[in-house]
Amino acid sequence: MTDRYSVIGRPISHTKSPLIHGLFAEVTDQDLTYGSIEGSLDGFAAQVRGFRDEGGRGMNITAPFKLQAFELADARSERASLAKASNALKFENGKIYAENFDGIGLLRDIEHNLQTPLAGLQVLVLGAGGAVRGALLPFLAAGPARLVIANRDLNKARTLAKEVNHERLWVSAYEDLAGQHFDLVINATSASLTGELPPIGVAVFTQALLAYELAYGKGLTPFLRLAQDAGVPRIADGVGMLVEQAAEAFEWWRGVRPQTRPVIDRLTVPLE
Ligand code: NDP
Repeated sequence: MTDRYSVIGRPISHTKSPLIHGLFAEVTDQDLTYGSIEGSLDGFAAQVRGFRDEGGRGMNITAPFKLQAFELADARSERASLAKASNALKFENGKIYAENFDGIGLLRDIEHNLQTPLAGLQVLVLGAGGAVRGALLPFLAAGPARLVIANRDLNKARTLAKEVNHERLWVSAYEDLAGQHFDLVINATSASLTGELPPIGVAVFTQALLAYELAYGKGLTPFLRLAQDAGVPRIADGVGMLVEQAAEAFEWWRGVRPQTRPVIDRLTVPLE
């Protein structure tokens, strides 16, 4: 029987997940369908359970439901627990399992696709929202020399750092970044979604090898433009992260990992 999967979010019309998982299913010869569901703000849990009760095997979760997805699960991975958010659910043995593959997808894109291993690097992460929560465990496990989180709401960053409690994890106010040097600068704020630049100066890029923007499909965002103008040798947006987290979920559900490069190439929008 054909297995059913879906992504749920609100709005959902922009989603690339059905395309990505459709391509994965084709190349790995998996018998499945993958659709999309517009989530209801007051009926999300019922929609998830309804999909499962009709034979659904798993779901991807996107904004604004990642927290609710985490809460309704019966069992949660460590990564999802730290993030307090889930971007993938699996329905098995009558239970709902929650995972969070955003962080591992980001790490894999940076280390594998962009060939920038984190070990020994000075890393700056802008933002302290859901995506950063999901990324911290895999990032710290990769062994950076220092990982600094900067956020407008400094208390949010401090709370997160306290929860993680790792000797190489630091918190900084934006205004205290002046004079600090980083090998890798990651924009994990949602500023680019509204065409804004987080409050950074060009100096944060002085030593940077790579500037990475989590938002994708937006071309040269203000963050990437600043990095490019500063002469950063490599800039990238989050399309690779999107495809890599999808590959992780696909493997979790199906037991087979699809190749990601052809799908990344197909979805890439030029950074110009
Ligand atoms: P959240 O809403 O959880 O967090 C938003 C963060 O952005 C907060 O830290 C907030 O700071 C900060 N922020 C928002 N506007 C500004 C601004 N103008 N200047 C400085 N900081 C700002 O979002 P997520 O963590 O879920 O997502 C963050 C980004 O990552 C989005 O662009 C999203 O599209 C992208 N993303 C990409 C994925 C991919 O697969 N490529 C997957 C998941 C997310 P404060 O706390 O001070 O308000």
